[in-house]
Amino acid sequence: MPYIETVHDRIMLEVFRGCIRGCRFCQAGIIYRPVREKSADTLNEQAKCLFESTGYDEISLTSLSISDYSQLEELTTNLLEWTDENMVSLSLPSLRVDSFTKELMDKVATVRSASLTFAPEAGTQRLRDVINKNVREGDLLRAVSVAFEAGKNSVKLYFMNGLPTETYEDIEGISTLASRVIDAYYQCPGRNKAKKPQVTISVSCFIPKPFTPFQWEAQDTLEALADKQDYLRSKITDRKIKYTYHDAKVSRIEAVLARGDRRLSSALELACKEGFKFDAWDECFDYDKWISVLEQSGLDPAFYANRAFGLDEVLPWDIIDCGVTKEFLRRERDRAYAESTTPHCREKCSGCGANKLGGKGICCPNAKVN
Ligand code: SF4
Repeated sequence: MPYIETVHDRIMLEVFRGCIRGCRFCQAGIIYRPVREKSADTLNEQAKCLFESTGYDEISLTSLSISDYSQLEELTTNLLEWTDENMVSLSLPSLRVDSFTKELMDKVATVRSASLTFAPEAGTQRLRDVINKNVREGDLLRAVSVAFEAGKNSVKLYFMNGLPTETYEDIEGISTLASRVIDAYYQCPGRNKAKKPQVTISVSCFIPKPFTPFQWEAQDTLEALADKQDYLRSKITDRKIKYTYHDAKVSRIEAVLARGDRRLSSALELACKEGFKFDAWDECFDYDKWISVLEQSGLDPAFYANRAFGLDEVLPWDIIDCGVTKEFLRRERDRAYAESTTPHCREKCSGCGANKLGGKGICCPNAKVN
């Protein structure tokens, strides 16, 4: 270990792999299927071992959707038996609003204040149904009220612009939702009256990703995204709401890289020769230089980013089998356009195909593993 601050400067405890949900924009939720959990005992032992060998004072419980872990209660109780006295805090990444409880809140807040982040992803129920987020406004307001009652005064909410079927009404819904969160603060009798509420809304741009039901969708153009970002800014008038958004140019290059085919390799080689590096850092990212290497390689970024791929088109990543079938992704795409949701894997199996991978997990709970 170098003695420097690293990105994840804490114990990262991966609780389970995969996700029971099926958000239709999410690649990780598909390619890591099916869900496989570690037991609470194994995790407790691993956390102790990591603490003793590193001396870190924070444990982050990581997974795609940590509050869906079936033994979360037992795990947090076991951890708190020794983390408290050693001044080690527990932190949780972005939380699902529908499985966030007061008990969980009390546990993560035991030693130090943990920041709370929720990801409704879309501003209206209609669009949340399109993306299969399966959370309702009432769930969010209940979750933030739990946090406010416990003395928190600020929450961060993640959203996305440019999702398939998005309208300006959906965008306005983001600011309406943020205002309702502020209202929820003032309706909490146990709120921290010495402080004002603060809601940060962080809005990224939709990037169509391989192996998702939205893999065929076109990304909004830079102009359309800028327009949507401006529109949302114009709707936020309350200073208690802080609005941040992602650079659409970075998202466009990400879309090109996400859906590129073999011809993209010459552009990548050229980028490498020209010394591109650390492009994820704002100060190192140069959009015009990326466009230049694409053009020099005879490629049009719009072909990869802003074009709807044909449903019968052979996709560059069709040579890879991630377990989940293309038929399932097609079905899910149809359901998205019908604004119809799909139950999660614990409620009902939707036949995605990942069960063929076997192992002991949600699809094959009784399978033996060595
Ligand atoms: S096969 Fe069924 S239970 Fe298993 S990951 Fe797919 S949808 Fe979920």
